[in-house]
Amino acid sequence: AKHKGKSAYSRFTPEMTEISHERLQMESYMRKAMELGEFELYFQPIIDTHSGKLVSAEALLRWNNLALGMVMPDRFIPLAEETGLIIPIGEWVIQEACKAARNWQTLTGNPIGVAVNVSPRQFRDPGFTDAVMRALDASGLSAELLELEITERLILDNSIETADILRKLDRSGIRLTVDDFGTGYSALSYLKSYPFDTLKIDKSFIQDVLTENDDASLVRAIITMAHSLGLKVVAEGVEAEAQTHFLKEEHCDYSQGYFYSTPLPEQDFIQWLDTNER
Ligand code: C2E
Ligand code: CA
Ligand code: CA
Ligand code: CA
Repeated sequence: AKHKGKSAYSRFTPEMTEISHERLQMESYMRKAMELGEFELYFQPIIDTHSGKLVSAEALLRWNNLALGMVMPDRFIPLAEETGLIIPIGEWVIQEACKAARNWQTLTGNPIGVAVNVSPRQFRDPGFTDAVMRALDASGLSAELLELEITERLILDNSIETADILRKLDRSGIRLTVDDFGTGYSALSYLKSYPFDTLKIDKSFIQDVLTENDDASLVRAIITMAHSLGLKVVAEGVEAEAQTHFLKEEHCDYSQGYFYSTPLPEQDFIQWLDTNER
């Protein structure tokens, strides 16, 4: 207690204790969250830019905890990754997403796809592909309607296993999307060697596409490159009508963002389908 002031030592303890306490608390809540049924999927429409029609929806995870309130994924996915809890949680997400999409097809008579985010640790788990196949079987959803979104960071590890898993998923008919495209330090060459179907341009590029010439140039270049490689393009974070005009002119295939709809709880999404698709 004699050492006051900013010694390196005294600077650390109080905050670190607080952070690790909060972490431990959250981890212990998270361990029980699954059986308590605290996770919920929201769905955000993905729209054909030209026709304005719905093609699929992205499943986005929410955690409703009594003590913590609604926790957004940016706050708990990293911890779920570190603890390995992402593996059972991620499996649940894929099962629920497949069931939901099968249900939309029953309700509307139209095939509607579902896109699911896959985190690196989940993807590398040896049971991953089997879990995906089981979810498809159990739901009766056709593989072509399931899309897996994988970030560039994962792809860049460049391992043989990554390539093998991607090929296996591709052969089964599942669609593969590069998520957050443009935010990693991509070598781009992976686009040629891996069986991706779609690039999703990160919202950080779409945000200022009308005001920043550089962002507009990048988006244009990404769309041209993707198309010449036979890939479809999704723009995420579309918030204003003027952005949709730009994306239409630049032949961006699909769009997603608050302009069309925020992510919705399943029942609200079904209602959205009802008012927008008939
Ligand atoms: P992401 O995959 O890039 O998802 C897009 C995020 O942008 C979502 O945030 C979505 O709500 C938000 N968004 C959608 N439209 C707009 C818009 O027009 N403007 C703006 N500013 N934002 C928009 P959310 O739901 O908080 O998810 C954050 C991230 O958490 C996701 O980023 C994804 O990486 C991760 N995530 C979400 N659900 C899952 C999941 O089930 N599994 C895994 N592994 N990760 C998930
Ligand atoms: Ca995503
Ligand atoms: Ca494919
Ligand atoms: Ca993103």
